[in-house]
Amino acid sequence: MFDKILIANRGEIALRVIRAAREMGIATVAVHSTADSDAMHVRMADESVCIGPPPSPQSYLSVPAIISACEITGAQAIHPGYGFLSENAEFVQIVEDHGITFIGPTAEHIRVMGDKITAKDTMKALGVPCVPGSDGGVPDVAAAKRIGEEFGYPVIIKATAGGGGRGMKVAMNANEMESAFMTARAEGKAAFGNDEVYIEKYLTTPRHIEIQVFGDGKGKAVHLGERDCSLQRRHQKVFEEAPGPSITPEERARIGKVCADAVAKINYIGAGTIEFLYENGEFYFIEMNTRLQVEHPVTEGIFGVDLVREQILVAAGEPMSFGQDDLVINGHAIEVRINAEKLPNFSPCPGKITAYHAPGGLGVRMDSALYDGYSIPPYYDSLIGKLIVQGRDRDEALARLSRALGELIVDGIDTTVPLFHKLLQEPDIHSGDYNIHWLERWLAENMAD
Ligand code: ADP
Repeated sequence: MFDKILIANRGEIALRVIRAAREMGIATVAVHSTADSDAMHVRMADESVCIGPPPSPQSYLSVPAIISACEITGAQAIHPGYGFLSENAEFVQIVEDHGITFIGPTAEHIRVMGDKITAKDTMKALGVPCVPGSDGGVPDVAAAKRIGEEFGYPVIIKATAGGGGRGMKVAMNANEMESAFMTARAEGKAAFGNDEVYIEKYLTTPRHIEIQVFGDGKGKAVHLGERDCSLQRRHQKVFEEAPGPSITPEERARIGKVCADAVAKINYIGAGTIEFLYENGEFYFIEMNTRLQVEHPVTEGIFGVDLVREQILVAAGEPMSFGQDDLVINGHAIEVRINAEKLPNFSPCPGKITAYHAPGGLGVRMDSALYDGYSIPPYYDSLIGKLIVQGRDRDEALARLSRALGELIVDGIDTTVPLFHKLLQEPDIHSGDYNIHWLERWLAENMAD
């Protein structure tokens, strides 16, 4: 086992990793930009190294600075968290070339899943159901129109290198094809340096269901059920839960096994998430994330396992601490993402926290790097906390969420907390009756002023 690991991240996820490491008796090294000298992850780690100025390309994304920090401190492994360098195959390669262990999958797995066309081809070959669409890349508008006719409109044009909701355009009919095709291509080129696009049937009322998988890198893998993340704004998740209210135990077992078998076959190591759209009882693969997800705590809640501990275990070459039969669902968990944003437009709202009080009590987990007097810098993601609640069933979890949100105090800045108070008054939220478009529609009707 490692004696010391470095966490190449900041905020709540850096704390999350420090906590797991500390329970395992592993020392931690925080890295930080000059804007984060007073950040909680720096205070909580055993050691810290300043790796550059505030902009992420010069600090949290600076590979030479991070490798140097490892060498100076003698850290044997790097946990990347999510975002930043977590899905950067080149980084993983460099880490390994320096004799440092990357706590996550191999560079090759990251590369394969990072290109959406290759990912889809790979998954298809492994028996995972995919959204019907073009066979690989589509070269021009004429070919795109033929595919539109073949599969029927609406269709979605996606940049193979896309991510974070960028490089995707919907064409409702043949007339819209040319502009949607050219826009998706231009976005792919501008944001990711790759203008290759492919086409899928656009599903009109799906839910977003993702399967958590975990592999030991030696051909053994398990699934930890699904999370429903259908409540999204601009393709960004805001409210996640496990288990999914629309998924039966039989469906879970079936799709879970398909996913676990697929990743076992490629000797996948560590945590991964296979994302699907789910409509009329069918699952359609859209992408695989080769890292820990923001919303992993809801899965940890219902299975009572520590996914970060498990990541560290398998990275050190040790066996997984659980098998499929050990994984039994207990209750229902919900996470809401608390952002430093001002409603109704969700504009970023960094600034000084004049008072902070985290909720507590049975079934409440607050993952946050906030503290009284902390100043949220303007340079990074607006996520400042994740409130995770758990109950014996969904209704109990929802009641607990409402109670915990009522206890939470974040003064000095605007946050997305009022959004959740309002959402909890909606019958559809209580019945679980929504798809990936529900929140956008609700926001347009309820937040437009
Ligand atoms: P990104 O990598 O940018 O997150 P994804 O492929 O994961 O892109 O898709 C993000 C979101 O876009 C999905 O959660 C869903 O809301 C929507 N989406 C993607 N593909 C389709 C599709 N074929 N039909 C309908 N919606 C889609």
